[in-house]
Amino acid sequence: MILFVGPVHGHEVEGLTGLVNLITIMDTGKDLQGKEQTELQELGRRCRLLIIPAGNPDGIARLEPQSLHAMGIEDLRFWGQGTWSDDTFCGWPESKRQHPMVGDNVGFLGCYFNDAGINPMHDEFFSPMGPEAPAILKVAKEEGPDLAVSLHSHESKPALLRPAYVTTEKQEDIRQLAVAYYAILQERRLPHGALFDPRAESGTYPSPFNLTSAIYHVSGASSFTFECPHGLSTDRACKVKFEEILDIQLALYEAMMQHALAKKG
Ligand SMILES: [Zn+2]
Repeated sequence: MILFVGPVHGHEVEGLTGLVNLITIMDTGKDLQGKEQTELQELGRRCRLLIIPAGNPDGIARLEPQSLHAMGIEDLRFWGQGTWSDDTFCGWPESKRQHPMVGDNVGFLGCYFNDAGINPMHDEFFSPMGPEAPAILKVAKEEGPDLAVSLHSHESKPALLRPAYVTTEKQEDIRQLAVAYYAILQERRLPHGALFDPRAESGTYPSPFNLTSAIYHVSGASSFTFECPHGLSTDRACKVKFEEILDIQLALYEAMMQHALAKKG
């Protein structure tokens, strides 16, 4: 059983696109471009798939462009993290220091947040402030998936991030999935990021306990965060076409299904 959590950051629409295509593939055997995807459909039929296409409908509704494709870093900062009331970018880590993102100092509310200024990736999981994260965790808790992903997007190459605050065995499991997925991308001439190394939580700036961590703790799932390229135009961006973004998403789902089925024997 696999849980797919669509973007909780509204401007990261690549995962929403991927999941809507996956739903269409499961229904018709074709993606929304009309391309045959019967192998993925067959693989999907052997699994129980739980699909939450949009993890933050407020944030997605706030995004005016259809995607950030071919845009710059300032577009990403504006639509993602938003601005202060003096029209400066919230930026990082300030955009995460103030939570909820409400008050007189807030200008344009970025698509990280729901309409009440809550970033579902970093809700207070023991005492939730918003409805999105608890709704997602309820599905995970009731269904108990084997594997779960929170779909995000960034400037760089496709990457599975190290899940934080889970056992090293779970981290190793996700690392093995990353090895298999990156091999598929390589074979299809698609870019991929570097592998993470499993480790214990530590350091001056430890990783946040986020939605991905919480999914593991309520369900036992191997849970991870995936970052897809937006296809920005910046020098260091991973430059991909729309079709490649879809291929990157569908290849991830394929690798996840194979991984979950292999573990079932
Ligand atoms: Zn994100």
